[in-house]
Amino acid sequence: MFDYQAPQDLLKDRVILITGAGDGIGRACALSSAAHGATVVLIGRTPSKLEAVYDEIEASGFPQPALCPLNLETALEKDYLDLADQLFDTFGKLDGLVHNAALLGPRTMLDNVKAEAWLQLMQVNVNAPFLLSKSMMPLLRAAPDASVVCVSSSVGRKGKAFWGPYAVSKFALEGMMQVFAEEQEGTSAIRFNSLNPGATRTSMRAAAYPGEAPETNPEPGQIMPAFLYLLGPDSKTVNGQALDAQ
Ligand code: NDP
Repeated sequence: MFDYQAPQDLLKDRVILITGAGDGIGRACALSSAAHGATVVLIGRTPSKLEAVYDEIEASGFPQPALCPLNLETALEKDYLDLADQLFDTFGKLDGLVHNAALLGPRTMLDNVKAEAWLQLMQVNVNAPFLLSKSMMPLLRAAPDASVVCVSSSVGRKGKAFWGPYAVSKFALEGMMQVFAEEQEGTSAIRFNSLNPGATRTSMRAAAYPGEAPETNPEPGQIMPAFLYLLGPDSKTVNGQALDAQ
């Protein structure tokens, strides 16, 4: 496991946006960030799941989160720009952006993948992180040391048979991270890195490995040290890196 002990107030006064915050790793990231002092902006497509995370954060006495239901599959550039305006009016800055939401999509030979499934997956896993990053740049520039975390996968670093458009989308996300990172190096205080969670006990993992006993893998809460490290000031000088949470 990534060796990092986060101080309790690590993310105090930071505003951190997390996509796919209603379930799995995104939910754990929202809860853990809030527990370390951050005001979290919860983005996801299922309002009831986001509301449950919101309530859990409030009940724990952590900073009051912001709840923003948004379907990344259908959102248009204007929706991202409107979100940026809202966040600018409320917070004036964004210290952290976690591109976590993703679809697993069809796991089959690439030449069997239906065009519609390919396009749908690319919209959520690649186009949405691009449009969201682009629209949030002014807010990220307004923060003293903003961190963008692209949640990747081992199959986005080394291609693997039958991982379909999912693997290709994670390569694209890694590529986007590297280009942004190099462009921002020396010109802004924004850092871009990718993080591979490794096998983690979520519904996506269960869908990818139906025969596996879920207990084999750590729970999302257990892989949070790497997320906290990348979101907090201790990683200020880390830019353009591909990290592993386990
Ligand atoms: P889950 O499927 O458990 O969670 C994915 C989240 O993304 C859900 O909250 C889901 O919302 C949200 N989401 C999906 N589609 C959309 C959409 N169109 N608009 C908005 N939100 C959407 O997956 P994990 O927690 O396992 O995965 C999180 C990240 O970690 C992903 O990027 C994944 O690729 C990566 N990863 C996971 C691994 C693992 O072992 N779990 C291993 C390697 C990488 P809803 O709940 O409403 O459907």
